[in-house]
Amino acid sequence: MNKISALVNMVLIRYYKHMKKKQIYDYLERLSNLLRNEVRRAGAEYGLQPVQVEALHYLSICNRYSDTPMAVTEYLGQTKGTVSQSLKVLEKKGFLSKRADKNDKRMIHLKLTGAAKKLLKKTIPTPLFSHACEHLDEQSQIRITNGLTDILQVIQRSNGMRSFGVCHTCRYNKKNKDGSNLCNLTQESLSQTELQLICREHESVA
Ligand code: SF4
Repeated sequence: MNKISALVNMVLIRYYKHMKKKQIYDYLERLSNLLRNEVRRAGAEYGLQPVQVEALHYLSICNRYSDTPMAVTEYLGQTKGTVSQSLKVLEKKGFLSKRADKNDKRMIHLKLTGAAKKLLKKTIPTPLFSHACEHLDEQSQIRITNGLTDILQVIQRSNGMRSFGVCHTCRYNKKNKDGSNLCNLTQESLSQTELQLICREHESVA
């Protein structure tokens, strides 16, 4: 291959890579907008903003170390003021209750009420999204999940953000001989249900 063909090849490879990146970005942006509009519509039925539905959703998938106002703020990437206002609205509407921590009374845990659980069951994942996923076979779903996880992790690491992962990918997760799990950070046992929940203290296995 002469120098000119090698150069043309290099430019084409770069162009192809750039187009792929742009295509992924465009799809994700379009999907985010569509999903957000669906959540907006669903939340409006209950007089809620999308950020308030997202706060409820976060609290339905996080563990007991992560159900604090600070963790909601970090996860949603919103200002403290916005999240604090949203939490007040959710509490007033009967979707949230506050509970003081057993050991540290200054720490507040946010608990979903039955009404919030019902709302989430109806809205998340949105019906349109669920329907679209039914068209994907299991292998495709796994591939998409893995690809999106990789993108998310790189962005989170580059921005110094918390990973909010689950126990089985966390360096503090310890499997005991009897099959039970222990969090080496808090020295507390983890139930099977808790292993599936996302955690503010999660640190990826190196
Ligand atoms: S093992 Fe990691 S992810 Fe699980 S509770 Fe402990 S710190 Fe959180």
